[in-house]
Amino acid sequence: MVRMDKPVKLEMMGLHGFVGENFAAAGDEGENTPVGRVSYPPGRYGNLPYPTNLRRAEMIGSAMDTPEHSEVAVDPQRQEQAREYARIRHRLLLVDLLISFALVIGFLATGASRAYREFIVNLGIVSPWVQVAVYVGTLGLAYTLLFLPLSWYRSYVLPHRYGLSTQTLRGWWMDWFKMLGLEVLLGFPIVELIFWLLRTHSQSWWIWASILMVALSVVLGYIFPVLILPIFYKLTPLEDKELRRRIEMLAGRTGVEVAGVYTINLSSRTRAANAVVMGMGRTKRIALGDTLYEEFTPAEIETILAHELAHQVHHDVEIGMVVQALVTVASLYLAHIFLRWGVRAFDLQGPGDVAALPLLALAMGLFSLLLMPLTNGYSRWRERLADRFALWVTGRPEAFADAMTRLANQNLSELEPPPWVVWLLYDHPPLHQRVQMARTWSGDRGSPG
Ligand SMILES: [Zn+2]
Repeated sequence: MVRMDKPVKLEMMGLHGFVGENFAAAGDEGENTPVGRVSYPPGRYGNLPYPTNLRRAEMIGSAMDTPEHSEVAVDPQRQEQAREYARIRHRLLLVDLLISFALVIGFLATGASRAYREFIVNLGIVSPWVQVAVYVGTLGLAYTLLFLPLSWYRSYVLPHRYGLSTQTLRGWWMDWFKMLGLEVLLGFPIVELIFWLLRTHSQSWWIWASILMVALSVVLGYIFPVLILPIFYKLTPLEDKELRRRIEMLAGRTGVEVAGVYTINLSSRTRAANAVVMGMGRTKRIALGDTLYEEFTPAEIETILAHELAHQVHHDVEIGMVVQALVTVASLYLAHIFLRWGVRAFDLQGPGDVAALPLLALAMGLFSLLLMPLTNGYSRWRERLADRFALWVTGRPEAFADAMTRLANQNLSELEPPPWVVWLLYDHPPLHQRVQMARTWSGDRGSPG
């Protein structure tokens, strides 16, 4: 469920990881979940220094001009662990959701929200701006602290137990505090502005709020790679001349001007490999996890870069923002309807009453939960198109299938998750489907739609 203290979504920043892992929260959420994955705290779910190895140099030296096909096989023991890991995380997600909904509904239905607003007013706080700040600040902090043990278990204990995390406890806490800072910095102004709109434009607030949220997501899309990501990770321009040459050749074949290609130090937190395209306009760039760069063969990396390039060719960052904008308008309109009903049902002073905040959170949370199969379905479709494009532009289906198999082993990802899990939580096709697609690929390009 959407927590009001984390209103900003990774997707809104135009992030498209190569696999379903939450990019910023690498090594945490295996799938798109309404709690950890969609809302954006890398720190909460972050992950001990990972010894960089020298195998990459060997691989590039030996494989570059040879047939470039290495033997990669699915590790059945890793698959067994992957299934177990996924099962535990699904249970944690369910617990998180149930507690969240129970808390929010309980807080409303028992009249606690009204009573807490009364308490704040009785402190002599007259300004509605300060009332909102106190209500959101205190309850937001309480909520964050209440979920701290669950976050710690999910993003520190569990990935360490399965050998995925490389993060120190200190590093985890650093991320946690950075994240909290970002949430306060971004979340407070948004909540204040929305409540101001609710007080002054009780009928049309959702239109203005939509404009505000969409504008914010565009701004964040631009600044994310240059201002926000560097708070957690380091982006370094890709120095590997051979790889650069390859991607420039790929880009040349598509007629697209390639965005900057960078490596990102995912190994500071996780062993899992990933790649991503992010940013907009001049900040647009493709980032290749060092965890991927150091473990995969050049041909495999080429197919993965081609997939990221496909997102650029297909304008997936921009289209994703339009889709997100439509979802925002629809969800705020439904929140508007829900608020009108809820204000009467729970005897609140009006939609601008800060005691109605749990209603707003409930509406947004329910809506994003109900919409998840749809938004994930959309994402899986775009990812399939990017895969097809990568196969077409590289003509290397074996390398692509090998890369997928390597990802399953290295990231402890399930090759064949249960269909309902894919339907509900996966924003990328499961790896067995991606391998299958490569094995049966007939040479088509895969229109971007
Ligand atoms: Zn992708």
